[in-house]
Amino acid sequence: ATDIRSWIANRIKRDEITRYMDGDRCFIDDGAIEGALERGKNPDPGRVREILAKSLAIETLTVDEAACLLHVEDPDLWEEMKAAAGEVKRRVYDNRIVTFAPLYLANLCVNGCVYCGFRAENSAERRRVLTMEEIKEETRVLAGTVGHKRLIVVYGEHPASDYDYIADSIRAIYDVTVPTKKGYGAIRRVNVNAAPMEIAHLKVLHDVGIGTFQVFQETYHRPTYERLHPAGTIKGDYLWRLYAMHRCLEAGIDDVGIGALFGLHDWRYEVLGLLQHAWDLEEKFGIGPHTVSFPRIEPATNTPYADSPEAVVDDDAFARLVTVLRLAIPYTGMILTARERGDLRHEILPLGCTQVDASSRIGIGAYADVEEKQKGERQQFILGDTRSLDEVVRQLALDGYITSFCTAGYRCGRTGQKIMDLLRSGREGHFCKLNAVLTFREWLDDFASEETRVAGEKVLAKELAEIALRFPDMYPRLHASYEKVSQGARDVYF
Ligand code: SAM
Ligand code: SF4
Repeated sequence: ATDIRSWIANRIKRDEITRYMDGDRCFIDDGAIEGALERGKNPDPGRVREILAKSLAIETLTVDEAACLLHVEDPDLWEEMKAAAGEVKRRVYDNRIVTFAPLYLANLCVNGCVYCGFRAENSAERRRVLTMEEIKEETRVLAGTVGHKRLIVVYGEHPASDYDYIADSIRAIYDVTVPTKKGYGAIRRVNVNAAPMEIAHLKVLHDVGIGTFQVFQETYHRPTYERLHPAGTIKGDYLWRLYAMHRCLEAGIDDVGIGALFGLHDWRYEVLGLLQHAWDLEEKFGIGPHTVSFPRIEPATNTPYADSPEAVVDDDAFARLVTVLRLAIPYTGMILTARERGDLRHEILPLGCTQVDASSRIGIGAYADVEEKQKGERQQFILGDTRSLDEVVRQLALDGYITSFCTAGYRCGRTGQKIMDLLRSGREGHFCKLNAVLTFREWLDDFASEETRVAGEKVLAKELAEIALRFPDMYPRLHASYEKVSQGARDVYF
């Protein structure tokens, strides 16, 4: 217990907060947010259309502009906004959707977030920290049976799952390869969702080859934050968390994922908080967030707060916040998780989302041992969409999307500033489109059911024809690689 207390006491490095601040001011400007929300009421349709034109030019909106969009009530204008959001997504990301799975490795936690099943005082939660062998077991199922290439690994905050454990677990995941029908399966990008860390520890994770580092601020509204995260806990320190992504960028991890947990405070406020966060990263590092997440609170075992009426953001508000986020930060990846129901995900996806998870299980050890471990008391919360990856890929294909299993980005230096520039200019599409085709071919051959393969091949035929037309100079190289993959070559990318 003394050890844990001293670990907690030494966790926060004060100078790694203040160095990014303007004296005692942080980048969240509560007055500016409240003022913009007030001024944005009853927006003029002409002004709304000007703002949409700016989004369509792939420019980040100001807080005032986003506040206007947050107050659009007129049904026709709202339809225009949804259409613009979908168009922004297509301009930056085309018809590609990336899939991944969450992998929970440890649920011990020293904190007391009132909405989370993992909070320290929740005695109903069964605690575990997976061993490296157990992590490999989980990975074998995900990479060998389901066919995932990307994971988001998730940890509570505890000395038993500190940065060194996180680094070891990522190495263990990258170590696994599993033979498949035609080739082999492996996880090629591990993204991390873990507690904020100091720069030296983040550098260790960078060296292991992590993809994106995600930290959600939960709520940008400081009084609410302080009410829901007990004082004296590490997480109780609003500023340590607020500057987590600044430290990542300084440590060399230049794909960073921000997010807010919707349901803690006014959803419009959180959208503007996320936007101020994106602006500050852009201003200080020239790199905006790689992804933005917008989870809503889900029920969790023995966690009354998660069931309270206070915590509800309804489906209509959810659609609006997703749309405005897409329009406000046009180049950022947007992650729509299986916390949401399948039918709702189908409606929300076209508003500009770029990533979905599938075949998700959030019990610790639940991929290798479903019966036993997917029980409520081992999970952080309860999932809304339990469809398999095969089903999700098929639905996407029927809707005209290509599922991209591409993980080339961080392995060939297309991260951070480089990827942002490519995204803004629309040139990212060239590589990504080709890699989507190659990785989709690979996945269909290794993992798809017959029904999904048929639906997927229709999409592939359309993609190949489009590439031949749009990038004739690249087509011969693509065609050669495509043939190689069809014959069993794996992990081929541009
Ligand atoms: N412990 C680390 C932290 O808090 O940053 C990382 C893992 S935590 C399990 C990941 C995220 O889960 C949190 O940032 C929070 O937004 C989300 N979360 C917590 N409780 C939730 C609930 N009841 N429903 C939906 N999401 C929840
Ligand atoms: Fe712990 Fe993270 Fe859950 Fe908070 S949200 S209790 S820090 S696992």
